[in-house]
Amino acid sequence: MDDTPRSNAALAARDLRHVWHPCTQMHDHERVPLVPIVRGEGAWLVDADGRRYLDGISSWWTNLFGHANPRIAAALAEQARTLEHVIFAGFTHEPAIRLAEELVRVAPPGLARVFFADNGSAAVEVALKMSFHCWLNRGHGEKTRFVALTGSYHGETLGALSVSDVALYRRTYAPLLLTPILAPSPDAYEGAPGETPAQVAARRLGELRALLERHAHEVCAVIVEPLVQCAGGMRMHHPDYLAGLRRLCDEFGVHFIADEIAVGFGRTGTLFACEQAGVSPDFLCLSKGLTGGTLPLSAVLTTEPVYQAFYAEYSAGKAFLHSHSYTGNPLACRAALETLAIFRDEPVLERNRGLAAHLARRLEPLRAHPHVADVRQTGMIAAVELVADKAARRPFPAAERRGLRVYLHGLAHGALLRPLGDVIYFMPPYVVDEGELDHLVDTAVAGIARAVAG
Ligand SMILES: *Cc1c(COP(=O)(O)O)cnc(C)c1O
Repeated sequence: MDDTPRSNAALAARDLRHVWHPCTQMHDHERVPLVPIVRGEGAWLVDADGRRYLDGISSWWTNLFGHANPRIAAALAEQARTLEHVIFAGFTHEPAIRLAEELVRVAPPGLARVFFADNGSAAVEVALKMSFHCWLNRGHGEKTRFVALTGSYHGETLGALSVSDVALYRRTYAPLLLTPILAPSPDAYEGAPGETPAQVAARRLGELRALLERHAHEVCAVIVEPLVQCAGGMRMHHPDYLAGLRRLCDEFGVHFIADEIAVGFGRTGTLFACEQAGVSPDFLCLSKGLTGGTLPLSAVLTTEPVYQAFYAEYSAGKAFLHSHSYTGNPLACRAALETLAIFRDEPVLERNRGLAAHLARRLEPLRAHPHVADVRQTGMIAAVELVADKAARRPFPAAERRGLRVYLHGLAHGALLRPLGDVIYFMPPYVVDEGELDHLVDTAVAGIARAVAG
């Protein structure tokens, strides 16, 4: 090796000379350390100074089976020596064919067609365009709008951001965006005192019905994050909402787009969140965990009737038009196939049930904490809502950045916790054990004590 210094400090200094990071006010790095990671093993990340961090957020919700997973790495190495990439128009390859077959096999019934893209936002763009274009091909060009839920997040490209309602990401770019029709989220945390999650869902379905009565003629689709609105603060809702949404979409002639980019692949306790409501959407968007967290890839699954709305003589001009250079990348497809193989070979969901129960037991005492307004959990996603005033559920002023204190405490104590504002959450890779969950919870509890002090 050459003798370039590779300490944390040396790498961070070089990074900050040229690299611009996502979701970051770069000025923060004058006081918040930038952490250079040199390798990963299991749920752990190792920095250039040899310090270890337990990845409590699965590296932005992507990792399922650990970093540098040996099975996925071996499949990738073999694929890299065979076929790294090929144009996906006019040409195809077995990894994409097998992956489409596997996705159709494991997805909710009725989803028979698979369109690949290369990240979550792109999958949302595809679903929005495909829904609009499907209606257009059927002679309903007047349908040009989308219904989204308050507090939703579907990505940050302009189309995906258009149907998102997280102010932090949306506000600045609002002049550039389409205007969605916002339906109130069935978020149980925002329910009235004493209202059960099922009651909130029923009430919100009534409000959605009223919106559709007025707008269905101009609406292509309703897009939702099933069971958990993740980036919006890990807000959770009752599965009844999804069942009712399916019925309303059928009644009013609009599509149901399920964005399972974050919640798919076992996060909520079932392989797909929609299963818990026994429904199939018209479009299912997948990414993040799709490759086990190794490579960018996304897929939009849809139904045979949607596919048939595009299938015609070339001259009819009905073909779907959306293409990315790296569509169906063979390496990414191989990583996804190996990820699905792990689900087949190992009792992943069953093991996760035990881990989720342990996490729930460990978080239970936080309910009594004077600055915790809510502890909620759906499968392998758990969240703790920090507030200034528990009785009134009044948040801390955002400028105080209490959650950032938890992040900094985590870094200093070997845990990657990256709160969403003041929502401290746990979304670990499925390969953690109970001791590692204990480490995450203990670190978070100590971090919370520091965050709420003064
Ligand atoms: C992360 C996310 C996206 C966007 O995916 P990217 O790959 O980051 O573009 C879309 N929808 C949901 C629900 C997400 O959590």
